[in-house]
Amino acid sequence: MAGLNSVLLDPAIGVGANLAAWTSAGGGEGLARALDRPQDIIPTLRAADLRGMGGAGFPTWRKWTAAAEMADGEKYVVCNGNEDEPGTFKDRYLLRRTPHQVIEGALIAAVAIRAGTVIFYINPRQAESIEAMRHAVAEWTDSGLLTEVERVVGRNVRLSVAPSSGRYIGGEESAVVRWLNGSFPFPRRKPPFPFEKGVNDRPTLINNTETLANVPHILKNGADWYRNLGIGGASGTKLFSLSGDVLEPGLYELPMGTGLQELIFTHGGGMLGGRAFKAVFTGGPSNTLLTARDLDVPLDFDSVRSRQSRLGTGAMIVISEGTSIVRKVAEYVEFFANGSCGQCPPCKCGTFQMARLLDRIATGRGTEADRRALGHLCLILPGSGRCALIDGAVTVVQSSLQTFPEEYATPGV
Ligand code: SF4
Repeated sequence: MAGLNSVLLDPAIGVGANLAAWTSAGGGEGLARALDRPQDIIPTLRAADLRGMGGAGFPTWRKWTAAAEMADGEKYVVCNGNEDEPGTFKDRYLLRRTPHQVIEGALIAAVAIRAGTVIFYINPRQAESIEAMRHAVAEWTDSGLLTEVERVVGRNVRLSVAPSSGRYIGGEESAVVRWLNGSFPFPRRKPPFPFEKGVNDRPTLINNTETLANVPHILKNGADWYRNLGIGGASGTKLFSLSGDVLEPGLYELPMGTGLQELIFTHGGGMLGGRAFKAVFTGGPSNTLLTARDLDVPLDFDSVRSRQSRLGTGAMIVISEGTSIVRKVAEYVEFFANGSCGQCPPCKCGTFQMARLLDRIATGRGTEADRRALGHLCLILPGSGRCALIDGAVTVVQSSLQTFPEEYATPGV
């Protein structure tokens, strides 16, 4: 749902796969500016303080600079639309409903780093997104609009859509590269980073879909415009996937820095059934829980981090009093256990064991020894995997143990 200052969900650009409608609504102007002054693209993103919207909040300009500084030759841009974690449903909307702003953003990235291949990597369960993107890519390819891009990049430019593995870990950057290179999407330790050695061992820039969707608007309207959309020191807008025990769950685009209280009680209509607010699983359920004392937190990367949590993807799964935190944590840890790729034994065994203990506790069969075993696993598992899956699973367990210890003593509240 569009909110005040909507950019990505502006109804005027919700034009489906129609390129003519996109350009008549002002689309293409950002790309035109990028082509006119390619040297200004990265400084503009830096001035705008665009962050990676896939979870990390890493400054976009740093990634683009690293890829641009690699020696010329074949380079790749990958738009990451794997989106598979519980509670996040923003990228699929952008790909399905506003594909042209995503494509334009990816083409600007190609110009900035001089890449000839742009790949839209999309979760295969999002069949409508894949169909919309294939149609939109065909429109750009047939339009002649790529000719000028090719002139500036200095090579042929090819756009394609590639279904991802459909696994949660398939969205991790090294797993993206492995899958696109034809292998099982096992994450690996970094370095080398994808910008050094990515698809076909060539420099590869991987950005989240929402990140790329912002780019044409920033190039078109300027860095100051984007910064002023945010609240406080935050820049731009953010897509929030709001779900759980709220009256009006949905996708909301709001200024970065909007308060958690405002998101839930103004835009989300408040708590379901008039129940009291209890907690929020943020950013995909792999972060520290936010509770009632955090309702005043501005929802931007730095402010949420100052509460020892993370904004992540912007997913907010709201829990009311009367809902068991242990049951929800058990559900999410089972998701992580099923999603573990298995190449790190502590992750495969540890998430499985945590899921088993949580299930026992949540269903009233747990003992004090189970609770202690869970706490022990939280101490020994962090840092034992090649990717962040195991650490995310531990974080949410540890947070719930610390914040709601009474639920572990008397589960199934
Ligand atoms: Fe796979 Fe888990 Fe290791 Fe990540 S931490 S690479 S998901 S086994």
